[in-house]
Amino acid sequence: MTSGLDQAAPRAPRRIVQSGDAPLLAVRNLQKFFPVKKGVLRRTVAHVRAVDDVSFEIRPGETLGLVGESGCGKTTVGRSILRLIEPTGGHVRFEGEDVVAARGEKLRQMRRRMQIIFQDPYASLNPRMSVSDIIGEGLRVHKLVSSRQELEDRVRELLLKVKLDPVYVNRYPHEFSGGQRQRIGVARALSLSPKFIVCDEAVSALDVSIQAQVINLLMDLRDEMGLSYLFVAHDLSVVRHISHRVAVMYLGKIVETATTEELFADPKHPYTKALLSAVPVADPDRRPQRTVLIGDVPSPIAPPPGCPFHTRCPSVMEICRHEKPPLKECGTGHQFTCHLDV
Ligand code: SF4
Repeated sequence: MTSGLDQAAPRAPRRIVQSGDAPLLAVRNLQKFFPVKKGVLRRTVAHVRAVDDVSFEIRPGETLGLVGESGCGKTTVGRSILRLIEPTGGHVRFEGEDVVAARGEKLRQMRRRMQIIFQDPYASLNPRMSVSDIIGEGLRVHKLVSSRQELEDRVRELLLKVKLDPVYVNRYPHEFSGGQRQRIGVARALSLSPKFIVCDEAVSALDVSIQAQVINLLMDLRDEMGLSYLFVAHDLSVVRHISHRVAVMYLGKIVETATTEELFADPKHPYTKALLSAVPVADPDRRPQRTVLIGDVPSPIAPPPGCPFHTRCPSVMEICRHEKPPLKECGTGHQFTCHLDV
């Protein structure tokens, strides 16, 4: 079976991202540990190492796909960058400014330029607010419109941008399908004219045929408005269509990063290979041998020593059990952490 995205209509060429462009977003050694509290005194007895030393950059107009199994920390990365949750350590720079150190008005202004589209189009829209109120809320809060008329005009414009009929402006979320609700979520994210959007499993809850439509819309908007995305997903076939580069996460760490073409054509890390072997392909002759990973992802409270993937890796060696794998580079921007030789 192929996914709806495999059958999606061919797209116009994407905007070329110049590797020499200064990064719009630079994430360095990001960490987010959640305390585990126990007892009457709620003492901290351990930490969930949800994000542990994650680094990457995103350039203007670029989409970085962030993939991995659920619970690997990818959603936490997106939310830490936006300061929806506070990072435990590391640095985030957006347009050269320090996001982690920003406070008050500076953080508010920064947040205008960095938005998020959530996974669940059913839960992320307030059922008691009309489409106009949902999309217009940010415009009102940031005082970007001076009259009710201007607000309505802007909301109608945004509805057109996400290919929804402006006659829906006074309707409520329950009157829309999942795909339409997600378009409302996209319009809300666009309302403050951001430069960067975290798409947090933004199409995962949708039907495969609707997924293709929403992804195509996101690509059109990116190319038209010069947006950059961090596209968080657990499904590699979804990420393939929209991303210029892909980073693969396992147990709070990035284990491989490459351009989308290179990652799909020549993956290096055994975990990436296993994920790719599960991606459906239309041509049975091009289908790689399926690698089924045995066992569960270890607890991020007590990650295994050495390589975090060693408890499930089909290529595990003795050294992997006690020594952290080095970061290796093969080709431009293709990096992976593994003891295996390339
Ligand atoms: Fe597998 Fe060892 Fe490479 Fe880890 S370092 S991915 S356990 S071969």
